[in-house]
Amino acid sequence: MSDLTQLSVAQCAELLNGKQISSVELCKAFIDQVKRVDPTIQAFLALEEDRVLAAAGESDKRRAAGSPLSAWDGIPIGIKDCISVKDERCSCASKILENFKAVYDAGVIRKLKSSGFIPFGRTNMDEFAMGSSCENSAFQKTRNPRNPECVPGGSSGGSAAAVAANEVPAALASDTGGSIRQPAAFCGVVGLKPTYGRVSRFGLVAFASSLDQIGPITKTVEDSAILLDTIGGHDPNDCTSLETECGGFAEGLKNASVKGLRIGLPKEYYELEGMSDSVRRCAEEAIETFRKLGAETVEVSLPHTKYSMACYYIVATAEASANLARFDGVRYGYRSPHARDVLENYMKSRGEGFGTEVKRRIMLGTYVLSSGYYDAYYLKAQKVRTLIRRDFENAYKQCDILLTPVTPATAFRFGEKSDPLQMYLSDVFTTSLNLSGNCGISIPAGKDPNGMPIGIQLMAPALAEQLLFHTAYAFERR
Ligand code: GLN
Repeated sequence: MSDLTQLSVAQCAELLNGKQISSVELCKAFIDQVKRVDPTIQAFLALEEDRVLAAAGESDKRRAAGSPLSAWDGIPIGIKDCISVKDERCSCASKILENFKAVYDAGVIRKLKSSGFIPFGRTNMDEFAMGSSCENSAFQKTRNPRNPECVPGGSSGGSAAAVAANEVPAALASDTGGSIRQPAAFCGVVGLKPTYGRVSRFGLVAFASSLDQIGPITKTVEDSAILLDTIGGHDPNDCTSLETECGGFAEGLKNASVKGLRIGLPKEYYELEGMSDSVRRCAEEAIETFRKLGAETVEVSLPHTKYSMACYYIVATAEASANLARFDGVRYGYRSPHARDVLENYMKSRGEGFGTEVKRRIMLGTYVLSSGYYDAYYLKAQKVRTLIRRDFENAYKQCDILLTPVTPATAFRFGEKSDPLQMYLSDVFTTSLNLSGNCGISIPAGKDPNGMPIGIQLMAPALAEQLLFHTAYAFERR
């Protein structure tokens, strides 16, 4: 094999199972690629080579003995720095957790490891997953492999860039308001936000617990299905984990067809002012492609879309303010050396440990939850959230799946969105999905005149991932 780093997960498995390569060879190829490109791309915060190669050696022994843990045994997977892998650093790209090592494996890591997948390094992110460009990382700026002068998107920019730069065949990430789909679109790869409760959040450092969901970033739709097959399913350690069966998605792709599929086009998304021409054109071409493949399209309405950003930034910050209260300089994480008493210890540890965006969100969240403003903001946002969810239920009476752009424009340049509101607007098309709890996927669909990738987003009802994969797969193969 000439260049192993270009392989998808499925292709890696073929070569491993055919004994054409070993896991050690495969992992070495990716480690070399990280050494080659990561000084520029900066997708990884950490990569423990010895640990990866030791796991690869174990995997090779199992395969040689004829007892691999699964067809995927020995394949490396990049891990976003907010997902716990026992004994590896888990910093959430924050100074406050800079030297923290996870004390147990997250639910998804247990599942990955029991299929033989190898956790491969810690990918960069916006601090505590708050951001849309990776510029909020306390440690480094990840660059977009398609143009290093542009951001990779966020908050899972490290995972998306690592996959796009062939530093790893696939990666895990988390999506609270678009953090898997938006960086996947910016880097030209596939990003899945599973249905809320499909994938365990146990061991994922919480940002906004009612919105957070772990999902894969991959090169292909098939790989996305393979990874959901692996990480999905019930976990007794997560009380919001669904007990529904989860699996067979990759197998199910064989029958993928979109004949007769009703694709809904939410008019509020397409009416957005400020959408770039190339993104609009790309979505229109995708719609045309689906029509040629035998799908029908219908215009639908999601009337409360205009409130989704406001609603998201109230719910998410409220939950973040509560979740981040645990970083107090006492139990774990950074402790300020400048404090003289307990109160100063809280204030200085948090003041010095958290970055600007995280502080902004904690203040906003504390404000909307305060007794004087709870009814006016938090409670109202919860009601709006219900209306947004109902919008989707109503839309799915007229169609099976929704098709929209992922972002209003392609990857921007570093520093271009220094106004936080401008930054927040890059999530206009993605936050509603988390508020609804449904599933969605972002897949590459074209390029803008500067060669930067454009994605389209498919959204489906709760637990309709199979439909999502079929539709995305048919499009990918066209
Ligand atoms: N960019 C959004 C935010 O800053 C979404 C983040 C996410 O999905 N983790 O909150």
